Amino acid sequence: MSVRVPVVEAITKANDELARLNRARLDSRGILGLNIMASPGAGKTSIIECIVPKLSRDLRVGVIEGDIATSFDAERAAAAGATAVQINTGGSCHLEAQMVSQALDQLPLDALDLLIVENVGNLICPATFALGTHQNILVASVPEGDDKPYKHPRMYRGVQVLIINKVDLLPYVRFDIERFRRGVNALNEGVLTFEVSCTTGAGMEALVDWVRAEAAARRAGAVQT
Ligand code: MG
Ligand code: ZN
Repeated sequence: MSVRVPVVEAITKANDELARLNRARLDSRGILGLNIMASPGAGKTSIIECIVPKLSRDLRVGVIEGDIATSFDAERAAAAGATAVQINTGGSCHLEAQMVSQALDQLPLDALDLLIVENVGNLICPATFALGTHQNILVASVPEGDDKPYKHPRMYRGVQVLIINKVDLLPYVRFDIERFRRGVNALNEGVLTFEVSCTTGAGMEALVDWVRAEAAARRAGAVQT
């Protein structure tokens, strides 16, 4: 009966160790790593498509796409100007550090400044698995409803950045942004928040400016150490 707990701990420990190795591979090259999480359809890939062309003006961008099947999203990221690798998890509903490690093997790390990892669309387990990235970003979209922070507290607690996407739909759907904000604040007060729309482009410059500043800080840190 007591056998199962050590097994679970061992799996988590192994993941954390591989995540540390992934982090070291990024840090030694001054690459900023972002882990984007959301429910399916929130617009993770659309945001990547929107920001990569702007970021590519001064950053070399790599993208790791995590999906259960297909390479649709990696093709979209590549078309936007990123060097992209697709991970097909074959059914697993989240990425693990081992998968990211294998994807890193396929990327020209010495020729990258920024790595964006798009996690499998899921608001539950991606929060549990460290990947070695520096910042966890959660995308919430207006049509999903204003109750998501209340229903998925763990996900909202574990992120450094929140992107509210599809704000152009606010007049058409029932989404009480104040109720949403209250739920977020109760879990993760002061989380850096961007309100954007991939359709209109609203809010994208602020998001791009933040990524650029974070990447510059990482690069500066790499030079010092
Ligand atoms: Mg996607
Ligand atoms: Zn999962």
